[in-house]
Amino acid sequence: MSSFNTEQLIEQDIAHMFHPVTNLHRHRKTGPLVLVSGQGVRVTDSSGKSYIDGFAGLWNVNVGHGRTEIAEVARDQMARLAFQPTFFGLATPPAIELSSKLASMLPQQHFQFTSGGAESNETALKIARYYWALSGKPQKQKIISRRMAYHGIAMGALAATGVAAYWQDFGQLPSGFVHVAPPFDYRANPGLSETEFIAHLVSDLETTIEREGADAIAAMIGEPVQGAGGVVIPPEAYWKAISPVLKKHDILLIADEVITGFGRTGEMFAQTTYGFSADIVALAKGITSGYVPVGAVGISSQIFECLATPDRMFMHGFTYSGHPVGCAVALANIDIIEREKLPDNARERGLQLLAGLKALESHEHVGNVRGKGLMAFVEVVSEKATKTAYDGASGIGGKLQAATRKRGLITRCSDVGIAIAPPLVISTSEIDELVSIVVASIKEVCH
Ligand code: PMP
Repeated sequence: MSSFNTEQLIEQDIAHMFHPVTNLHRHRKTGPLVLVSGQGVRVTDSSGKSYIDGFAGLWNVNVGHGRTEIAEVARDQMARLAFQPTFFGLATPPAIELSSKLASMLPQQHFQFTSGGAESNETALKIARYYWALSGKPQKQKIISRRMAYHGIAMGALAATGVAAYWQDFGQLPSGFVHVAPPFDYRANPGLSETEFIAHLVSDLETTIEREGADAIAAMIGEPVQGAGGVVIPPEAYWKAISPVLKKHDILLIADEVITGFGRTGEMFAQTTYGFSADIVALAKGITSGYVPVGAVGISSQIFECLATPDRMFMHGFTYSGHPVGCAVALANIDIIEREKLPDNARERGLQLLAGLKALESHEHVGNVRGKGLMAFVEVVSEKATKTAYDGASGIGGKLQAATRKRGLITRCSDVGIAIAPPLVISTSEIDELVSIVVASIKEVCH
């Protein structure tokens, strides 16, 4: 049925592409899995095999695949006006309308656009420092983030990232980045109750602020739910406890809602899920459900008023800040998310997903199952009592990947476990199917 020459594509891929976040040595032997089409939560490879897209691409295809109405909006905008920047006071209707739409959805009120998550975080970090410089406190430059954080791979976002594998051998990072403890109950909680654990995390933050000096710290950046670091679900009251500490010390809070934005945690934004309001928000991924690359940064009115000083230009921006096609696609995508109440589906199907996966906690090699909305993680261990991780030589991640793909599920497998984040349109029966594949794959591989 396929019109693709899979063998030739694989040959060309191996010869000429080098893949991100991939073992390039191994890839030369295995080659790529070539995906050619999608509908709803399913994608099809070049041989015609169908899979559940259990990771929604890269946590981003919130409205699912095959939305032709988005394609039509993109086509119309390209035909009308392919591109104009938002530099030098220029604008296009989709960019203006998207900023206004976002302001109606979020506490942040002023938006600038980017092409993705790392660019949004770079922008957020620079704005935090710039804000303090314009406020007469240029020494406030340090950035606090958390271990296990993932903020992207551009240099500033990378320095904030708290997973060492992403920095290793890429040389010197920008200075002034400090990491504090993540709210990771399974591995970072020394046996405390939830309330005590939050107090412990707050105290770690306060000690860090004292050591580094509040007058030297610009901002703290955090994902409301840490994603790529291992789906770290904070205690419900964590952000409500962290946020006032930052306020007290005049430290800005940057919410990296690149994954959590646009419905994934069961609310449109995780600032609502966890009851806090950041000074700056970074968005990407679900803003277009991945149909085209767009990101955004939102800032509070207070920060905007400071930036809008009479004697300065705001000397930051990317060529594609506010690409009209991207913004038109974002508007069409957000319309679907709202019309189809996808945050509600994420919340309800998320509870079903978590309940289904929780059954795995009785398995002798499953250490922990955790989830919030449609973000979930099954952490595997070689020894449950000591929470000992599998070592790299076990090849457990590769085996889990093969076992899930064989059964028709694409998701992110590593030696730590299986991360799951399907499109927000997933149905009850599709969740059942996804869970049964994860259960069967773990039973096959982990013994
Ligand atoms: N922040 C978070 C929370 C992310 O998950 C990611 C991407 N996985 C990024 C930032 C970086 O986004 P991008 O890859 O679009 O630069």
